Amino acid sequence: MKKIILVLVFLVFNSQAKYNIVDFTLKNGLRVVSIEKKTSPIIFFSVWYKCGSQCDAISKSGVAHYLEHMAFCSNKMEFSNFLEDIGASKNAFTSINTICFYEVVPKENIEAVFVHEAKRMVSFNIEDHAFLSEKKAILEERSMRIDNNPDGAHREVILSNVFNREIGGTEIIGLRHEIESLTQEDLYKFHDQWFVPNNAIIVISGDFDLNQIKALAEKYFGKIPPKELTKISVKNSVPICLKKIEYSSPKNGELSSIEYIYRVPFSSQGNFRKTIAFDIAIRIINQPAFFVTRMLKDVLNSATSVKFGYESRIFQHDIVVLEIGSNSIDNLYRSEDTWNHLKNKLTHAGISKSELDIVKKQYLIALAYKKDDIEEMSHYLGWLLMCGYSVDEIRSMDDIVQSISEKECADLLREVFSKEPMAISRSVPRGYDRE
Ligand SMILES: [Zn+2]
Repeated sequence: MKKIILVLVFLVFNSQAKYNIVDFTLKNGLRVVSIEKKTSPIIFFSVWYKCGSQCDAISKSGVAHYLEHMAFCSNKMEFSNFLEDIGASKNAFTSINTICFYEVVPKENIEAVFVHEAKRMVSFNIEDHAFLSEKKAILEERSMRIDNNPDGAHREVILSNVFNREIGGTEIIGLRHEIESLTQEDLYKFHDQWFVPNNAIIVISGDFDLNQIKALAEKYFGKIPPKELTKISVKNSVPICLKKIEYSSPKNGELSSIEYIYRVPFSSQGNFRKTIAFDIAIRIINQPAFFVTRMLKDVLNSATSVKFGYESRIFQHDIVVLEIGSNSIDNLYRSEDTWNHLKNKLTHAGISKSELDIVKKQYLIALAYKKDDIEEMSHYLGWLLMCGYSVDEIRSMDDIVQSISEKECADLLREVFSKEPMAISRSVPRGYDRE
């Protein structure tokens, strides 16, 4: 027991160490953010382009994700073989606001990664057969994630009802008929428009020499010309209006769910402190012992899952979602009255010091783990940078967490949950008729 307490105390203490972040920008606008950590002789290298599915043109949903697949494949064999030979790994992903490529390599091979990533930024060539076979792969990915997945399909219905199409109102992967009609020209156009140095941030961490990194960035990226960027619509232009969505799930039995979607207005306004404080407030109400979660579960019997989802979506949409899943449809309908009652209590009740202290400790320990792992730390840093938060804000994360008060959390819960939800969406098995 003593040992566990000591470990926890050490972690909390250790997490107070500030991120040692160095942030510099080349003349062409390319930003490089680095964190030195010399515990193992490896380097995590990532390039984040500020263009995700929110940059997909109207009727061309899925372009950003398709481009990620194609850009990941280009020079595939040459670079893949090289990475395999040196025992490295690589991957890529697309979100609403970013396309990211990354590699984890032994430190002596870092120059090759600079060469390759600079190539990916300037040149993009599609071969006909690769374009077609990747389209098949993407449609297959869509079948798996959405068409043959009731929860994925439900989510797509919600997104398309709640959000304006121009600002990412579909799943990142895109609508099937729109993916089918995408052309090579669409991908070239997207690459040309967004894969430019002044639209990218390199996040690099691990065992490197800062002067060497500065020299390599200049040598391989410094000559790439910048471009004027088109402004994209901002997420906070979403209108708030109550929508009731009924989704007929192809699931068998009585498994059903309801989602209440509330707008969180401050994430997209770049308010770092409020975003972190709200994240902490949501973790408090997600604790099994907190009265809202406990009472919803009690009223609806034990086979019910209750979760407020914010963190995983923090960088996706400015929403918090209360998801209630039940194995009884009648119970699910009953949950509406229960939630309305509890919601009023929640917006008037305060947060206690002990509730806040527990979550703060958990938060700081999670941060300490992140700081310990170069891959996790770089991802976290990249996400925060893509949301427009400053390095100074990220550096002072521990102090911000420490200084958040009970009142701040309670005020934010009131601000969000005293408004009507943007949408309420029920997913019930097909053929089920309430009356
Ligand atoms: Zn994919």
